[in-house]
Amino acid sequence: MSATKSQVRRCVYCGDLVGWHWQGQRLKDGSKIYLDAQGRRWAGRRCASCEKKRVQTAIRFNRFDRELLTRELAARGYRVKKFANPIVAETAGKTCHIPVRKACTDGRAITIEEPLPDDSAESCVLLFSSSRVFSRQQIQQMAAAKTLQIFA
Ligand SMILES: [Zn+2]
Repeated sequence: MSATKSQVRRCVYCGDLVGWHWQGQRLKDGSKIYLDAQGRRWAGRRCASCEKKRVQTAIRFNRFDRELLTRELAARGYRVKKFANPIVAETAGKTCHIPVRKACTDGRAITIEEPLPDDSAESCVLLFSSSRVFSRQQIQQMAAAKTLQIFA
């Protein structure tokens, strides 16, 4: 048998047909290393372009995000198992994936960076990342009027 085996596979994320070539290379565990037409590795599920995009859109959650989200999701019946994108959680004894999307708002409409996958959980997490500057006095006034909450 030839060491070069060429075919195409459909990426399950973008749906594109991508060359799937094995040129005799293997990982340490013996599994075959497949490459696309540009020589980039891809295992046959998520193409190299989608993998690159996934890494770029990977979201890091700091302790503040984690605590807020743990509480909010618990209130909706989810127990978080892993903070990633999507968040892996458990609800009613079943594991589910909660998509995370960066979002911005102009005060009227919310824009999210990309659509939610069809197979995701009933909930999703939108991460708002706009920045605005406030004076210390404004913060104190909003706190007094209860329009600003301080995480505790
Ligand atoms: Zn793809």
